[in-house]
Amino acid sequence: MNPYTNEVVKEYPNATSADIETALVHGQKLFKEWEHEAPATRADQLRDIARLMRLHAKDLATTMVTDMGKLYREALGEVELCALIADYFADHGADLLRPVQLDSRANGTAEIRKHPLGILMMVEPWNFPYYQIMRVFAPNFMVGNPMILKHASITPGSAHAFEQIVHESTAPDASLANLYLSYDQVSDIIADKRVQAVALTGSERGGVSVAREAGANLKKNTMELGGTDAFIVLDDADIDTVTDIAWRTRLYNAGQVCTSSKRFIVAANLYDQFVAKLKENFSKVKPGDPMAKDTTLAPMNSKRAKDKLQKQVDDAIAHGATLVYGNEPINLPGQFFQPTILTDIKPDNPAYSQEMFGPVAQVYKVNSDQEAIDLANDSDLGLGGIVFAGDANRGKQVAAQIETGMVFVNNFMVTLPELPFGGIKKSGYGREMSALGQNAFVNEQLIVTA
Ligand code: NDP
Repeated sequence: MNPYTNEVVKEYPNATSADIETALVHGQKLFKEWEHEAPATRADQLRDIARLMRLHAKDLATTMVTDMGKLYREALGEVELCALIADYFADHGADLLRPVQLDSRANGTAEIRKHPLGILMMVEPWNFPYYQIMRVFAPNFMVGNPMILKHASITPGSAHAFEQIVHESTAPDASLANLYLSYDQVSDIIADKRVQAVALTGSERGGVSVAREAGANLKKNTMELGGTDAFIVLDDADIDTVTDIAWRTRLYNAGQVCTSSKRFIVAANLYDQFVAKLKENFSKVKPGDPMAKDTTLAPMNSKRAKDKLQKQVDDAIAHGATLVYGNEPINLPGQFFQPTILTDIKPDNPAYSQEMFGPVAQVYKVNSDQEAIDLANDSDLGLGGIVFAGDANRGKQVAAQIETGMVFVNNFMVTLPELPFGGIKKSGYGREMSALGQNAFVNEQLIVTA
């Protein structure tokens, strides 16, 4: 369903047991072939996938916009990012998988060899329909783990389009099987002995269910879950830079980003200026057709997501939060949510500990660096965060005390193939991308030769 027009675009039938068995048989056959093939031979195939993504960028981007409503220019950027990720692992994957010699007292030489594990079940969310797949696909393609994809139910077109790119490329078709699966079918696949790994990006609820299945079957897994990332503004920060970045990071992808800043924690001396400027910037956005060049606010992905956010905002206000800006209906057919600013959120307000997955900014005032750190860490989640400081070293010291998997100082939070991505606490475990992500699903086999 297109969340801008509310029209049903296409219906996709669920996978049958026969579809699943075919994917498993072909995946297992490819796994056995790949075991005897050096990773370097797959690099050119991955480069071909990058080439095709660039070639079909406009169509791929339009499919995403139709599926979940993101702005077309952001969709084009996502396609290019996917191509970059594929190129990166094509260039570096084989090196990252080379045997490592160990300095050991064992009798003889000791080395670690990296082998593929087997078929990987990946479960992905709708918010970055291709990027979420590529983060897992590119490194595991190089490792030699064939993949079965269960994408979010609301982005079936994007799932199909990604699979088509793989099939059009020189890569083996069985490297990625896109199946429209129920939760029970995902459980059955995880339990199958041909499947050895599970990767999920999504909510805590989804993560708990899938991790439980993986644990019950002793399958290695990574969980990339939600975030309530802090955006900390220290008292010597450059307010113009900070306010320019703040609204962009909150409204990108209609605020539906796991690592977008959701809690703005601002030093008391800059607080009033910060709130005034955020309000000014939020009031300038233009909701509209996500395909149009001048649209700056996309609809949310679905009515369900919009209704959930509306309830969270209403609850927050009912529990004493101050509505500084927004929360007005937008008179367009799509699932739009007006950018909204909430302040005076106390620890007993449900909003204090909730992830608001849409264009809503919570702003907090603090009187010291320590207060900012304590507030940032007073969360069950621990994904990312940003610290702004006039003195970058001071910013770095604060960053090191933030309990998350990633922190950026004086900068946008960016995602690049060479940087590891992942969180701690209830934001999950494991890392995707970079050398760490490349190693997530390999058998690091010790061989000692006398
Ligand atoms: P969900 O967990 O509902 O969905 C994510 C995926 O998991 C979907 O494919 C969904 O299928 C599937 N899924 C959910 N439950 C199960 C289950 N029991 N068995 C099998 N599959 C399941 O997440 P949302 O759609 O709510 O996505 C947004 C969430 O994802 C946010 O919390 C966000 O922060 C997080 N996220 C985390 C990122 C990270 O890298 N850390 C990046 C982006 C988002 P279906 O669609 O059919 O329900």
